[in-house]
Amino acid sequence: MSASDLPAILGGIPLRLAGPPAWPDDWPEVTAALDACLRDGSWGKYHGPNCAALVDQLNSFHGTAETILCASGTVAVELALRGVRVEPGDEVILAAYDFKANFQNVLTIGATPVLVDIDPQTWQLDVRQLEAAVSGKTKAIIVSHLHGGWVPMQPVMEIADRLGLLVIEDACQATGAILDGRRAGTAGHVGVLSFGGSKLLTSGRGGAVMTSVPEVAQRVRLFTQRGNEAYPLSEMQAAVLRPQLDRLDERNIVRWENVRQLMSELSRRSSSAGGSVLRPIIEGCLTTDVDRPAFFKLGLQYDIVNSVGLSRETFAAAMRAEGIAIDLGFRSLHRIHSRRRFRAVGDLPNADHCDNHVLVLHHPVLLNDPDSLRQISDAVDRVYHHAEAINKASGT
Ligand SMILES: *Cc1c(COP(=O)(O)O)cnc(C)c1O
Repeated sequence: MSASDLPAILGGIPLRLAGPPAWPDDWPEVTAALDACLRDGSWGKYHGPNCAALVDQLNSFHGTAETILCASGTVAVELALRGVRVEPGDEVILAAYDFKANFQNVLTIGATPVLVDIDPQTWQLDVRQLEAAVSGKTKAIIVSHLHGGWVPMQPVMEIADRLGLLVIEDACQATGAILDGRRAGTAGHVGVLSFGGSKLLTSGRGGAVMTSVPEVAQRVRLFTQRGNEAYPLSEMQAAVLRPQLDRLDERNIVRWENVRQLMSELSRRSSSAGGSVLRPIIEGCLTTDVDRPAFFKLGLQYDIVNSVGLSRETFAAAMRAEGIAIDLGFRSLHRIHSRRRFRAVGDLPNADHCDNHVLVLHHPVLLNDPDSLRQISDAVDRVYHHAEAINKASGT
């Protein structure tokens, strides 16, 4: 074994010596926008042209009637719930494997989360289970597109319209994606975006609610007002988001091309390792229509049964040592909350599976050159190849 072959976790030289690429990356246009904020005083202003210009830009980008900017994606989900009149005692359906704050937002309003399992093919909310989740108290459904995958919105909307439910489409991880001919976040009655620090459009914090239903927009606005604006996005935040939105399509195309390359490399290497160990979640989604997915994180299914015997945790640690930003996925909601807090349809076996098998690759590397992508699959190879030694060293 040559020293250059040795995995970094065992003392070898990391494949990505400089570590994962930074986010946000270098944006001359953002620097220019910040300079302009310094010159015209926007950096310290509450009202000004930047937020209004961002709203116009988001409306035309999404083809939606109204966008309301706010302080975070989490606040955006809460405002959306209030916008569709979710009230104390109501029920809101969401996937058992979803962003933690979405569950918490339902509780914040005094409503009850109703968890449905995820589809074992797509690892997203299982649309076939929606009807079984509905009761006389159901008011709304939260649908999140996660890990580069998506939920088919047409069947969701058919069920919702038939049963008189309102749909909140969480596009925080799929910003700019075009799913079945529409921008993510515009197929439901109300959509939400996040401009958090790691998201595809970032101003450190921030979010937006989008809707083409006038009454929903009106109610959302009402809840942002406390005599002043209670959850605003600042002029300076709006200024740095605008040039990023200009280039979102271009960058989503590059990320998608790179994911396709990574998928083919991973499947080739998985088969040489004797089974599919690391499978991008998006593969299971590709049976339904997508024009262009978006990748906040590339979700991967890690299958320890077929694998070289490394636990998910040890595998992720070995990859991180190589300079690849891979982490465990989030926890399943029913695993981290008391049963008294929610109702559930069935035992949620597929969400249980996700709880143990999801890994996520952070998106910045997906903008890099093909060599960077090859480093990812080379790192996978290296870790597989030395699995036994890594296991021994990690004491598992
Ligand atoms: C990031 C995110 C949000 C909102 O997060 P904030 O950090 O509050 O902006 C909501 N839903 C999903 C699925 C997310 O990934």
